[in-house]
Amino acid sequence: MLNKDHPRYESLLLRHKIVEAHKNGILADSGMIAHGRGETYDYLIGEKTTDNSINTIKVSAAYFLNAKRPVLSVNGNTTALVAEDIAKLSKMLDIPVEINLYYRTDERVKRIEEVYKKLGVKEILGTNDDEFIDTPNLNGPRSPVSIDGISKSDLIFIPLEDGDRAEALYNLGKTIISVDLNPLSRTAQTSTVTIVDNIVRAMPLLIKYVEEFEDYSSDELTKMINNFDNKVNLDNSIRDILNRFEL
Ligand code: ATP
Ligand code: MG
Repeated sequence: MLNKDHPRYESLLLRHKIVEAHKNGILADSGMIAHGRGETYDYLIGEKTTDNSINTIKVSAAYFLNAKRPVLSVNGNTTALVAEDIAKLSKMLDIPVEINLYYRTDERVKRIEEVYKKLGVKEILGTNDDEFIDTPNLNGPRSPVSIDGISKSDLIFIPLEDGDRAEALYNLGKTIISVDLNPLSRTAQTSTVTIVDNIVRAMPLLIKYVEEFEDYSSDELTKMINNFDNKVNLDNSIRDILNRFEL
């Protein structure tokens, strides 16, 4: 049992979710290590959403509302931590969830599919019955992407994604929004928009701003998008870390 008074209760709760997901066959072994890397960067940013990241999440909401065919790409870590929020966003915007795993096994795909089915997601892509094409210049089991999903979409949301895949998608000319606590990772560096925040804090805010901006005109949304520069966003994120350690 986790003690609510523990000073690191929130963090322990997330670890517990990660361990459970691993036991349930949703998360690969390496997913647990990826979570640890995330925790480290979360410590560095102060385990809170910075003002800079709030702005980035607002811009992401504008991207979602302006896109024609967005897709939410999910893996084991995202499913372990925020499956409910992913399902909520998918239903609000009527957009698909696509299962994309670095270590793809039929069993893990089936387990993750079950999670989103139970949560009422209508369109789940990347399942074992889906038709796939390979991402150019990417080998192995992480290469295939659903023909209906990522390959046809104009906006791809890739939380906690591996850098090789992010680079390959970028080279396909896709608009990419990533969520990555590490502003230095290749995923963070190659995305169109990088939300440097913990996925568990970023998702509820993203949902909130999608709701808030729903009635905005396309012009207003485009203005928000055009005013954003991901290089400045990443520089601000690194500066936010440095400012916490200035002696
Ligand atoms: P890259 O492949 O992009 O260069 P990497 O190899 O360090 O980076 P991966 O292990 O491929 O990273 O992917 C995991 C990424 O997800 C890490 O950058 C980690 O910081 C981030 N991450 C892990 N947990 C979370 C979380 N809860 N919220 C946001 N980001 C997270
Ligand atoms: Mg990687």
